[in-house]
Amino acid sequence: MTVSPSSTASDSLSGYELPQFHRKLRDQVREFADEVVAPAAYEYDTKRELPYDIIAEMGDMGLFGLPLPIEYGGQGRDYLALCLAVEQLARADQSIAVTLEAGVGLGAMPIFRRGTEAQKHEWLPQLASGRALAGFGLTEADAGSDAAGTKTTATLADGEWTINGTKQFITNSGSKITRLVTITAVTGESVRADGSVKKELTAILVPVPTPGFVQEPAYDKVGWHTSDTHPLTLTDVRVPETNILGERGRGFANFIQTLDEGRVAFAALCTGAAQGCLEESIKYANTRNVFGKNIGANQYIAFKIARMQARVHSARLAYYDAAFKLVNGRPFKMEASIAKLLGSEAAMENARDATQIFGGYGFMNSSPVARHYRDSKILEIGEGTSEVQLAVISRVLGFDAL
Ligand SMILES: Cc1cc2nc3c(=O)[nH]c(=O)nc-3n(C[C@H](O)[C@H](O)[C@H](O)COP(=O)(O)OP(=O)(O)OC[C@H]3O[C@@H](n4cnc5c(N)ncnc54)[C@H](O)[C@@H]3O)c2cc1C
Repeated sequence: MTVSPSSTASDSLSGYELPQFHRKLRDQVREFADEVVAPAAYEYDTKRELPYDIIAEMGDMGLFGLPLPIEYGGQGRDYLALCLAVEQLARADQSIAVTLEAGVGLGAMPIFRRGTEAQKHEWLPQLASGRALAGFGLTEADAGSDAAGTKTTATLADGEWTINGTKQFITNSGSKITRLVTITAVTGESVRADGSVKKELTAILVPVPTPGFVQEPAYDKVGWHTSDTHPLTLTDVRVPETNILGERGRGFANFIQTLDEGRVAFAALCTGAAQGCLEESIKYANTRNVFGKNIGANQYIAFKIARMQARVHSARLAYYDAAFKLVNGRPFKMEASIAKLLGSEAAMENARDATQIFGGYGFMNSSPVARHYRDSKILEIGEGTSEVQLAVISRVLGFDAL
């Protein structure tokens, strides 16, 4: 892919001229977000329900298969295309955007990157169609930022893994169309030179349903109401030995790679959220009349909006940079963390400012900025907290921060 800096960018909000396919896709998803996703957002947020018809439409548009090869039912495009779609959806509804981001980034991509041919042919066409969702379960009660706390175990005997443990906060893990959850489990231990014990973590595919695999009731979350998030209990769950994903003992390293990539799409989601708050604020500031003039005529409000624009701009450039490096096969770990850090801060700060600009209306759940206000906090926590991003960045700079 060639990308040239453009002084007359067709998208006034980006500093890059995107390739033609990507521009068209971005505009198409933007229209879909405005016409289909935004009008339904409040209703589903209130019902706390995933709108399966909208997810199916996204499947028909090919969004769940964007970075997957055509031979596996995908669109044969790239990760940047996924990011652009996620960004546009997040302007309108973060829950819908994260359903796509996690469905592809955490559900399908680990199988595409590390699955066997049989696993790819079995799972990717279903996931690319948007008619099936997959989750990735790493987090447990004592294993969030620190995956070494994983307690779920998997033992291998007679050609089968037997899995026992619990997982928490797993996205897309309990919906009506969830067909798979990949979990990480301790499959052994080794002793380091200093005598300390190192857990061997392995990723294993658990089809849904499988006896002993229980999706507990959905969480009562502050935001992302429409997104599907459950605790999971696994009791003597048996799956074939061939359900191992990647190499035995490489579960942690592989998950870190999955997260690095996922953070780029997550940063795109953050940028979309920040952009949504900006657009709502511009509209409101141009129509809300107080003291005989539109509130945007006050320099304080105009400057607040200018600051919001500056945050969106930096967040977008940061994720474009990480995405371009990713798709061009260049190192992008630090750039992904920077993009996720800046993007989540931009979304949170823009949501706060937008809510302030809306005054009392901003505190009503029916206003889009109120939803962004509730939704944006998780952006600083999910797929690695801001502190974890700072640790990744400082590690690249030579500090051992964790
Ligand atoms: C809605 C939602 C969806 C999610 N989806 C998924 C999913 O699909 N799959 C999945 O596996 N997980 C998922 N998660 C889990 C999420 O990734 C974790 O919540 C996150 O990584 C933080 O882990 P934790 O909650 O255990 O916090 P902890 O690790 O307990 O951290 C608590 C606080 O301490 C800070 N902290 C920890 N260690 C350090 C340190 N060394 N230095 C400085 N600060 C530190 C953290 O940054 C944080 O602020 C989801 C969570 C939510 C809320």
